Amino acid sequence: MTPEPGDTRHHVVIVGSGFGGLFAAKALRRAPVRVTVIDRTNHHLFQPLLYQVATGILSEGQIAPPIRDVLRHNPAVRVVLGEVSDVDPGGHTVATTLLGGAKVDIAYDSLIVAAGAVTSYFGHDEFHHDASGMKSLNDAMRLRGQIFGAFERAELEDDDARRRALMTFVVIGGGPTGVEMAGQLEELSRRALQRNFRRIDPHMTRVVLVEGGDRLVAPMGERLSRLTARDLQRKGVELHFGAMVTGVDADGVDLAQSDGTHLRIEAVTKVWAAGTRASPLGAKVAAATGATLDRSGRVKVEPDCSVPGYPEIFVVGDLMALDDLPALAEVAMQSGAHAAHTVERRLRGDTTMKPFHYRDLGTLAVISRFRAVAKIGPLQIGGFVGWVLWLVVHVTFLTGFKNRFAALARWTISFVGKGRYERALTGRWVVDQDIPPGSA
Ligand SMILES: Cc1cc2nc3c(=O)[nH]c(=O)nc-3n(C[C@H](O)[C@H](O)[C@H](O)COP(=O)(O)OP(=O)(O)OC[C@H]3O[C@@H](n4cnc5c(N)ncnc54)[C@H](O)[C@@H]3O)c2cc1C
Repeated sequence: MTPEPGDTRHHVVIVGSGFGGLFAAKALRRAPVRVTVIDRTNHHLFQPLLYQVATGILSEGQIAPPIRDVLRHNPAVRVVLGEVSDVDPGGHTVATTLLGGAKVDIAYDSLIVAAGAVTSYFGHDEFHHDASGMKSLNDAMRLRGQIFGAFERAELEDDDARRRALMTFVVIGGGPTGVEMAGQLEELSRRALQRNFRRIDPHMTRVVLVEGGDRLVAPMGERLSRLTARDLQRKGVELHFGAMVTGVDADGVDLAQSDGTHLRIEAVTKVWAAGTRASPLGAKVAAATGATLDRSGRVKVEPDCSVPGYPEIFVVGDLMALDDLPALAEVAMQSGAHAAHTVERRLRGDTTMKPFHYRDLGTLAVISRFRAVAKIGPLQIGGFVGWVLWLVVHVTFLTGFKNRFAALARWTISFVGKGRYERALTGRWVVDQDIPPGSA
């Protein structure tokens, strides 16, 4: 991991190739630096479309292009497949386990930590055995196997109660991810699987969305929450508000309801879309630098995204706690680019502190084909217009021209037609796998 002999350029190490890390690397394109991007996966993951991989619309490659291919036009960038386990701010190194197991310390002049977040089970990590998160490709592939495997198993099942449990899908969490997942499961069973089975009727599928609060997509405001609930119910999704999950096992989920009663739902497939917490690397950065963490484990940073007392270390994206900014792709992209520009400015001799100002471009959630909700500044848009906006935004931000083109083709097939191409299963995916939370 040593530089080329004679290469004295300022070395920027970026941990993570998600939205924060990728936009930091891109922003350094013209800077007089060499850059090392370290990630434990080989891809940049477009997480907002994970649910479409899980429900067979898109392939995993369409939302996860190889990071070295995305950055191929910048020869100053080196991509390293490895997991960073610690930071030594005194020695200016990050401890990294490379693919294959070798442990190295990688030296930096400036460090941008963009390690993101992991699924949070709110103190019940044991739930992950039976309720898959929605945070990584592993999660999406596990879910795809469970979902399509459940229909296959239901077709073979003679026992009525067991067949019903196989055809019941419980989504936990009424934020955009839960809403999108529930909407797609409903669409999958009512449209895409028509005439595919002989013993079961996919129309009999039950999709249940469980939310602890009293509203769906709560940050989008009351009107859009109502619109979302109405559209989902019209599609056939069963909504449970004010319900807290008290237990999850292989056969179902237990809920404590706001009226004091308990409810058991027999369901083989459970999707955990209830929340995330910061990557454990945040705690390592805090321990090494004396920085403080917020309640979700995010590192509290200075207004320019640097760690207090360590101007050469930046924390950006989902791992950063600044001004209560939400964990959104736009925040990650803009803060990653801001950290990179700060490094570049300093190298030009400008050491003034420029605070990061987030430009809110709005939030979106798709409910089903041709229906979405969007909040852009004071504008609250629902229905078909919201869906067109969703389409434009996702085509614009999906990484790589080929992926945009391929995704558009698949959306035409799935939304105008009924096809789902990504349904290939192997026994490895149908037989449930236990994937620990936080794994890539
Ligand atoms: C299902 C889902 C749907 C979403 N939908 C939306 C949406 O519609 N709109 C929106 O704005 N936002 C959405 N988000 C949030 C958005 O995806 C995140 O805010 C964004 O990805 C954060 O970017 P990041 O770079 O901070 O982290 P990430 O994109 O998570 O990237 C972190 C990277 O760091 C790597 N990494 C982690 N730890 C280590 C380590 N120790 N060593 C090496 N590498 C490491 C990971 O492999 C990963 O590549 C969604 C998120 C999810 C999960």
